[in-house]
Amino acid sequence: MRAIKYVQVSRESLAVGLLIDFELTEEQIALRDKARKFAVEEVLPVSKKYDRTGDFPRETIEKAFKAGLMNLGIPREYGGLGYGAFEQALVVEEMAAACAGITTSVYVNDLGAKPIILMGTEAQKRRFLAPLTEQLRFVSFATSEPGMGSDVAGLQATCEQDGDYYVLNGDKFFITNGDYADVFVIFARLKGTKRHQGICAFVVPRETEGLSMGTPLVKLGHRASDTATVMLRNARVPAENIIGGEGKGFLLAMLTFMHTRPAIGAMATGLARSAMEYAINYAKQREAFEQKIANFQAVQQMIADMYARVEAMRLLTWKAAWLLDHGQDANIASSCAKLVGSEDAMRIVTDALQVYGGRGYLENYAIAKLFRDAKLYQIYEGTSQVQRYVISRYLFEEYQPILKGF
Ligand SMILES: Cc1cc2nc3c(=O)[nH]c(=O)nc-3n(C[C@H](O)[C@H](O)[C@H](O)COP(=O)(O)OP(=O)(O)OC[C@H]3O[C@@H](n4cnc5c(N)ncnc54)[C@H](O)[C@@H]3O)c2cc1C
Repeated sequence: MRAIKYVQVSRESLAVGLLIDFELTEEQIALRDKARKFAVEEVLPVSKKYDRTGDFPRETIEKAFKAGLMNLGIPREYGGLGYGAFEQALVVEEMAAACAGITTSVYVNDLGAKPIILMGTEAQKRRFLAPLTEQLRFVSFATSEPGMGSDVAGLQATCEQDGDYYVLNGDKFFITNGDYADVFVIFARLKGTKRHQGICAFVVPRETEGLSMGTPLVKLGHRASDTATVMLRNARVPAENIIGGEGKGFLLAMLTFMHTRPAIGAMATGLARSAMEYAINYAKQREAFEQKIANFQAVQQMIADMYARVEAMRLLTWKAAWLLDHGQDANIASSCAKLVGSEDAMRIVTDALQVYGGRGYLENYAIAKLFRDAKLYQIYEGTSQVQRYVISRYLFEEYQPILKGF
């Protein structure tokens, strides 16, 4: 975390500047509406099926690709859509409102492509980004290992230069879309190095000799997303595939998360919004004590809280996305967006399930799936505890108190 210097954005500019403008442009409204229509017409109808079977939703992903709702952040000069973090937040909120798992499957290309966008050479960008935009291809991002997830500086996979190649060894665990990835961005450390210093990132094509896949992992939720184990046994990767140079991997991973965490906040917002809508609908129909349960203040208040929280989640996400799109350091804002988004989504879906009473516990009602899906937001791309760690380090080391003279 040390490597990222937090640049304080002036409070004045935040107070009176462009940030306080919640009006979407016509293009943004059109994009959000397109994503909303796609979510309702293409994602929602198949979400139960993929949740039940655990199959990879390739057909739906292909439709998202063709509709221009995938690879959102790939710059235009490499054939991409060139959307900013804000537009990405608009799109994934809508999609995750219909199915969190399918959304993760669609969105993970943006996670995988981000390190190349951030630190790739011109040649790497042409070689690895452009193909993602030409036809449906997948790129996975791999820091996590069987023995390490939160502590990226503690990763154990190794790399060692041998002439024009680096030789990679180790295992990568929990890799989203890994079983279908055409290329991976894999993080490994130079042999003999410790902690942050020696970590490198490589673009590793799937056909690399020495790269193989383990058995797909079976999950509680997000069953429409594939989660894989990648094994590297003397995998030889061309030296030209290193991203950003030797030792830049840790900084690159942290910068990548800074860019992608707001999208997790946005997905959590979409899921929570749906949970709230299901709860309202059920409360209007279900009767107890000879009246609709929507008449009970306890139920009304739970649902009012849901709405207020959804609004707050979205605003934090928008703020982090805005900072990113304006070239500002969004490290803390991104962590806040992900932390509040994922924690509140879990709380909202728990309350929504409560509104359903016993039926909320049954798999044939939509709430059970939302409940299982929401849990992942508190875990991947840095757990809630890790987000709090990032935020608290900033507060204790860099934050300037408003009230001086303690
Ligand atoms: C479905 C799924 C998809 C995923 N996709 C990817 C992917 O595509 N690519 C990838 O690289 N990884 C991926 N991950 C891995 C994910 O990022 C890790 O699971 C996550 O970062 C947590 O790591 P861990 O599971 O090793 O838990 P650990 O790091 O072992 O943590 C265990 C517990 O200890 C807590 N903890 C750890 N350190 C601290 C600390 N300093 N302070 C307080 N508490 C702490 C954690 O919050 C957690 O509660 C995925 C995971 C899942 C479940």
